[in-house]
Amino acid sequence: MKTKISLKYKIFAVIFFIQLTVISIFIYAFVKSFKEAKLTSAYEANANALSQIKSSVDSKIALLMEKIRSTTDLLEKNQLNSSGVLESLSQHNDKAVAGIYHYEVRSESPDLLQKIQHTDKAQFPDMTAYLSQLYKSSQAQFPFFWNFDWKGKAYTGLGFSLNYNLVINEQQSSKKHVFFFFFNKSELFSLRSANSISDIIVYNKLGQVLFAEGSMSAEGLSQFSKSSVFTTAVQNKNILQVSEQKINGQKFLVSVQAQPLGELVIATMISTEAAFQGVSQVYFDAAYLSVFSVLFSYLLATVLSSTITSPLMLLTKQMQNISKGQLDVEVEIKSHDEIGVLASNFKQMTLDLKASKADLQDLNRDLEQKVADRTKELEELTIKDPLTGAFNRRYYDQRVTEEIARSKRTGNPVGLLYLDIDHFKKYNDQNGHPEGDQLLINFVKVLKSAIRNSDYLCRLGGEEFCVITVDTPSEGVQLFAEKVRLAIYETDFKYGERQPMGRLSASIGVSLYPQFCSDPATLMKSADEALYKAKQGGRNQWVLAEKPMSSAVDEIIVDIHNGKKVS
Ligand code: GH3
Ligand code: MG
Ligand code: MG
Repeated sequence: MKTKISLKYKIFAVIFFIQLTVISIFIYAFVKSFKEAKLTSAYEANANALSQIKSSVDSKIALLMEKIRSTTDLLEKNQLNSSGVLESLSQHNDKAVAGIYHYEVRSESPDLLQKIQHTDKAQFPDMTAYLSQLYKSSQAQFPFFWNFDWKGKAYTGLGFSLNYNLVINEQQSSKKHVFFFFFNKSELFSLRSANSISDIIVYNKLGQVLFAEGSMSAEGLSQFSKSSVFTTAVQNKNILQVSEQKINGQKFLVSVQAQPLGELVIATMISTEAAFQGVSQVYFDAAYLSVFSVLFSYLLATVLSSTITSPLMLLTKQMQNISKGQLDVEVEIKSHDEIGVLASNFKQMTLDLKASKADLQDLNRDLEQKVADRTKELEELTIKDPLTGAFNRRYYDQRVTEEIARSKRTGNPVGLLYLDIDHFKKYNDQNGHPEGDQLLINFVKVLKSAIRNSDYLCRLGGEEFCVITVDTPSEGVQLFAEKVRLAIYETDFKYGERQPMGRLSASIGVSLYPQFCSDPATLMKSADEALYKAKQGGRNQWVLAEKPMSSAVDEIIVDIHNGKKVS
């Protein structure tokens, strides 16, 4: 149905349009703010990690510097020998410093003069071999970081070299001395994983990597040390530089800061990719939400279509039924909204229509009955005499012609009684014309009760009547004529006693086809002649017609319309 499709899809279209708009705005705004929040928090985490690492490094270096300073004070005053130096250092030891090594650096290899272990009285490994290798190499810079594993733990060493004359074994020594401090590496760099950052790098101020932990390649590390942000950080000591850098084709959020002495530059990095981790999840979530939303709107559209279009479809179907004339089916919609009101009005309209149709059918039936009655009346008017109700002259002609035609086929005779009331002129004269009319009416009543249903009583004009009998033989017709005569004579008509014979009577001419005639005209003529004879014979009697002369019948012309003889 056209109505159904257009309305349903209009609702669908509107809901989908609103839905798409809302979802688009929502996803755009959500992803945008999510990305911004991610970026901000990544910057914050990165800077936070840097500041924590830096302050940890700073405090350790400060502690170390303090030890160095106090020791060198004593050295300058020549108040210390080597054991005194160590003693002095040991006095400043705290938990941050795991151990102190003291080397005298000679031309070939450094000599371990003494080592002091403090924390847990740990036995740290001999650094001689390492230091020898490091010191000889041109890369050796002081101070420097140095990582090593020992007894299952990761450590970082921080080395300083001091050129002081030391009194060792009561001899002046002007060799270079190296002190190593150790601290637990995991303690310092646990901040990397805690802050989800990808790289922690410690450079010296020349941009050489002293320590790096993370996934960045050596090439990437050196590339960053040449960037402007690195240079700016070296120049502006202790000021945090934050930026996004493209290193080796990959984007990083970078925090970089030089420590107060300017010797070390610490950088922390988060790859932008890692920072945006979870953003794709947001896209997936938005997609799930969209699918859910589409399913929900499909459900909504289905519910709407069943609450709006289904009742409308029902109404439409009922309208089609009504247009086909079926008024018996009722629409049952139980909602109380506009559709409910429409349905109840529709129902009322159907009931009204049904009632109107019934009224119309009744009216139609009445009308048909009236038309039938009227038609019957009109038909009777054309064949009946209005005064007496007997058939009229026209019907007589038609009937007699048909009966004779039938008789020709069947051979059954047609009889004719030609009646004329005796002295009727006198009756009129004595009792008045209206009484004469009334007598004619009563006369017909008497005749009707005397004849059979198969006989036809006709008024030919004035007080002249005839009865056509069918399928009755000559003897029967004669008996019938007598029965009729007697019935008239024995009836007490009003003012009958005033008639010449003291009663009302009639004379009857009787004829039969084909016995006394050959056609309707001669049948009438022969009966009329017989009537004449009955009048002549004294009235109140019937006379049977005579057999016609063989040729004479056709020569007699009778004006059948006024019943008078013309020749
Ligand atoms: P007869 O015995 O010879 O027949 O005598 P009669 O008086 O009946 O003579 P006739 O047949 O000549 O008279 C017919 C009279 O019937 C003439 C007329 O006054 C009367 N008549 C004819 N038609 C009507 C009618 O419709 N109503 C009334 N009241 N009288 C009629
Ligand atoms: Mg007459
Ligand atoms: Mg008469």
